[in-house]
Amino acid sequence: LVSKLPNVGTTIFTVMSKLATEIGAINLSQGFPGFDCSPELVTLVEHYLRKGFNQYAPMTGVPALREALAQKTTDLYNVSYDPETEITVTSGATEAIFAAVTAVIRPGRDAGPDEVIVFEPAYDSYVPAIELNGGVPVYVTLTPPDYTIDWDVVREKITDKTRLILVNTPHNPTGRVWTTDDLNQLASVVRDRDIWIVSDEVYEHILLDGRQHNSLMTHPDLRERTFIIGSFGKTFHITGWKIGYCLAPADLTTEFRKIHQYLTFSTVTPIQYALADYLKEPERYLSLPVFYERKRDLFLDGIRGSRFTFKPAEGSFFQTVSYAAITDEPDYDLAIRLTKEIGVASIPVSVFYNQKNDYKVLRFCFAKDDAILQEAAERLSRL
Ligand code: PMP
Ligand code: GLN
Repeated sequence: LVSKLPNVGTTIFTVMSKLATEIGAINLSQGFPGFDCSPELVTLVEHYLRKGFNQYAPMTGVPALREALAQKTTDLYNVSYDPETEITVTSGATEAIFAAVTAVIRPGRDAGPDEVIVFEPAYDSYVPAIELNGGVPVYVTLTPPDYTIDWDVVREKITDKTRLILVNTPHNPTGRVWTTDDLNQLASVVRDRDIWIVSDEVYEHILLDGRQHNSLMTHPDLRERTFIIGSFGKTFHITGWKIGYCLAPADLTTEFRKIHQYLTFSTVTPIQYALADYLKEPERYLSLPVFYERKRDLFLDGIRGSRFTFKPAEGSFFQTVSYAAITDEPDYDLAIRLTKEIGVASIPVSVFYNQKNDYKVLRFCFAKDDAILQEAAERLSRL
């Protein structure tokens, strides 16, 4: 069989988590909470399981959950999405990203394959989604320590073939958050062009140091051409439940749903009912900034006296650090060595780039119990 993804192997998340487990290392590599979700949420799921909500959900998602999402969106961002025609529940953000890219990207129009602007470092599922649909990724490189976007470079990369721009804010792996200027710049780039946007906002509730989430939906010119992607996994510590959603204008949602219905058809039923109830108390997601800010600071305070250098993450539950003052090793080798020698697993940030580089940056996930973060920081500080 000729591979359709010849350059893809096992993901770095699987590799590092497996190594960490084998060795018994502290696992700050793969991004998932090291603590459980709320027992109330488990009770709600149990309730709906026992009540017999165990058959296929509607293809678009259960109405109560779509309505709860519409309400949250209005309350938080003052933007309305019609639950009937503009909101779809998916089996995780990964499915939603794939469906949205598939809805837009084609292998051949008159002028050749569609092009997609990808800011790198980029989350690992974006490029395979583009390539499986016959599209061509066009990279805009973001560099440490700021990872800010040079919009002149973006403008240079836009061609008549550009059909899509992939956005991620707050950003994995860098923790950078888009500003309102970024939104305005993007709006000016796409104005009067047939360019759509997929905005991965799975960390929308993890904004640190009082920052606000500048969702692309809040810019009217962007709302009309954007698929907003969310995930409950990050928000309610339930990454294993694989449940997410897509908010998009009705014409885009129609095309999105055509793909979604043949990828999975629908998404796990009892969990949707439980989340519809659970979403009714905003404090459950509004408490996340304080919760994660403390954890980030605990980790950073622990490595502050060391030779690692960093800029505190602005959002997400990831912190990147530079080890340039410690060693010349490539980041992949160092991540493996640190897992084996000091028992702390991380992710080498070079894997999030398509183009080879040697920025000497590691990513640590701080969604872990306090004692674990302190122990990891202590071990790292000895380097
Ligand atoms: N996008 C980003 C930026 C992520 O970090 C992740 C998960 N770590 C996802 C998408 C996938 O989310 P889900 O687990 O809901 O598929
Ligand atoms: N998004 C998680 C991370 O960045 C990993 C999810 C996965 O393993 N695919 O670490």
